[in-house]
Amino acid sequence: MLPTITVDDEKCGDPLSCRKCLLICQTHVLGLGTSVGVKKYRETDPQYFVVRGVRFDKCTGCMDCVEVCPNNAIQVSFSEGGAR
Ligand code: SF4
Ligand code: SF4
Repeated sequence: MLPTITVDDEKCGDPLSCRKCLLICQTHVLGLGTSVGVKKYRETDPQYFVVRGVRFDKCTGCMDCVEVCPNNAIQVSFSEGGAR
């Protein structure tokens, strides 16, 4: 079953500097993207970076990302038909 992974972008204010969830996830489920169009990485304003679930099928449900987040910004849940 695939998880539903939600990230509150208001709470996750500076993912580029934090990255705790990205680093702790052993199976690299989470990824860093931008909320704006495609730009070169170095040209994108840091405020537009966001954390998103990417490889949902690799999520073990360990909840390490939820626990490590200092801002309580991530929720991971598994429910029937709840992928994404
Ligand atoms: S619950 Fe575990 S496996 Fe799933 S995204 Fe979070 S850290 Fe990764
Ligand atoms: S750990 Fe929380 S605050 Fe840090 S990048 Fe991940 S979601 Fe954002």
